[in-house]
Amino acid sequence: MLKLFRTFFLLLITCCSTLAHATAVFVIDADLQQQDLAPYLVALEDSVGTLTIEEARRQFAAGSFTPIDSKKGFNKGYTHSAWWIAFQVQTRAEKPQIGTPWLLELAFPTLDSVELYHPRADSPSRAGDIYPFSERPMRHLNFVFPMPPATVAVETIFLRLKSQGTLTAPLTAWSPERFAASSQLKYAGQAAYFGALLAMIIYNALLWITLRERIYIDYVLYATFIGLGIGAANGMAAEFFWPDNGWLVNYSYWAFGFAGIFVTQFARSFLNTAATSIWLDRSLLGAGILVAIPTFIGLFVSYYTGGRLVSAALFIALMVSAWSGIYSVIHKIPGGRLYLLSWFLFLLFAALYPLRNYGLVPTTFFTVHGIQIGSLAEMLLLSFALAARINHIRAEKVKAQREAIEAQATLVTTLRESERVLEEQVAKRTMQLEEANRRLNRLSVTDALTGIANRRHFDTVLKDEWKRMERLKQPLAVAMIDIDWFKKYNDRYGHQAGDICLTTVAQTLAASISRAGDLVARYGGEEFAFIAPAIDAEDALVMAQKICNAIAAKGLPHAESPFAHVTASIGVAAIVPAANRSSEMLLKLADEALYRAKEAGRNQAMMQQNAGTM
Ligand code: GH3
Ligand code: MG
Ligand code: MG
Repeated sequence: MLKLFRTFFLLLITCCSTLAHATAVFVIDADLQQQDLAPYLVALEDSVGTLTIEEARRQFAAGSFTPIDSKKGFNKGYTHSAWWIAFQVQTRAEKPQIGTPWLLELAFPTLDSVELYHPRADSPSRAGDIYPFSERPMRHLNFVFPMPPATVAVETIFLRLKSQGTLTAPLTAWSPERFAASSQLKYAGQAAYFGALLAMIIYNALLWITLRERIYIDYVLYATFIGLGIGAANGMAAEFFWPDNGWLVNYSYWAFGFAGIFVTQFARSFLNTAATSIWLDRSLLGAGILVAIPTFIGLFVSYYTGGRLVSAALFIALMVSAWSGIYSVIHKIPGGRLYLLSWFLFLLFAALYPLRNYGLVPTTFFTVHGIQIGSLAEMLLLSFALAARINHIRAEKVKAQREAIEAQATLVTTLRESERVLEEQVAKRTMQLEEANRRLNRLSVTDALTGIANRRHFDTVLKDEWKRMERLKQPLAVAMIDIDWFKKYNDRYGHQAGDICLTTVAQTLAASISRAGDLVARYGGEEFAFIAPAIDAEDALVMAQKICNAIAAKGLPHAESPFAHVTASIGVAAIVPAANRSSEMLLKLADEALYRAKEAGRNQAMMQQNAGTM
């Protein structure tokens, strides 16, 4: 049984060594341009990390090295082990020789330490980001080793790799000319990338200084840390930002950690989640905190642990951010579509890189520089979205202003309209009031039964005319008119007929006194009076007699009267108003004259006795 096991084990070793030796020798000649070395590589894990070059050579000879998957390349992820990789190289006598040293490039600049053992070199060449940049065998963002021209004899070249970060070793053999040309292009690309990023950072920093809106500083910080992270990952930072600070490179994931914190903050301010969706807001805040914790813990733990923790947290934050993009589009949050598109582009390009590492997509410019292209596309789009946001805010402002103006105009129109209606109503009411006043005035000066002036009006006019005649020193005449035996008329014909009689007498009076300035009024009961300014007693008596005749001429039947028709007696008086006289005196004189007319048999006019002296 033991023997069988030993036989099987030996067979296995033989197989492995056969496999190892089956790996092709890299034949190098003058035709060399650029050659991926993955198909020629074999590798050995040194989990303790103590293997010497001599031991490694022995292991190689024993066939312990295993070929790598040439499609995926050498990619071990996070590992505590040191790894040895080896490849064989030779030149063929029949082929033209490469006269100059050729170059070996290891395009993974975050490796901590790389030692290259060449059989003809006394000591190993060293590179790695824990060493100062100036100590590198060649100034380049990747690790580049100048190699002596190959010999016809097969030589084995060993590389010892150790890193706390991911362990990947894309190895390429270059002719120096081709390498120089390719490097120029590479540096130009990097300059363009960092230049564009810097421009956007400065532009948004200026916006932040002017507008003082948090969103711009979030963008600036996110872009800055993305730039630092990418610079650290692709070797640009080691060469240009901090050439002699290897420890900074080793903690490059910090930059990505901070980028993760700020991108979630940026998403919150960009989508204004505090106002639009409390759940999205909390998710983004949570994602930011989730990234912040390992980023700070990373200060105190190894790169190996910190890097893995931050990577895991970043992955979750990235998913939350991408989800926030989908959410904002579904819920039509302003700027949501651009935001989602930027994340989509970033994730799409970023995904190309690991896909290429696993051989799922071919190695092209886009797959190699996916993260840089993706991040630049994202930054550009987000910057554009920020500009669109300003536009949106401005449009909203203009709209709000227009609405305010419209509302104001409507208000003014409404106010004007109600003012007009009010004015109309006031005018109508005023008119009604004036009409009512006029009616009231008329009523207050008119006798209701006869339609001629009433006693009140008579008194007013008498007072006025008294004063006027006093000024003019002219006589003022009044007459008191009393219907004869009117009580009897009422008794005989009834009160209603009496009223009609009163009206008829009033109309007769009004028709007889037609001179402007004269006034006929009902004095009370069946008594009437007239005022005639600037007329002496004799003229007034003539007027009174005319009235007597006119009333008699009406011929209103009065069976109880000795005249058989309605008659009236009139007493007139006239005096020139003076300080020692009064209108009451005038009325009294007229009343006395009336009394005498009644005494004298009625149906006649009399004037005051002492008219001549007045
Ligand atoms: P004389 O000739 O002395 O004036 O006699 P008389 O009856 O006219 O005098 P008296 O003053 O005694 O009577 C006045 C009457 O006038 C009494 C009253 O019934 C009547 N009278 C007063 N005012 C009105 C009124 O508004 N309508 C009617 N129908 N009669 C009235
Ligand atoms: Mg009377
Ligand atoms: Mg009478």
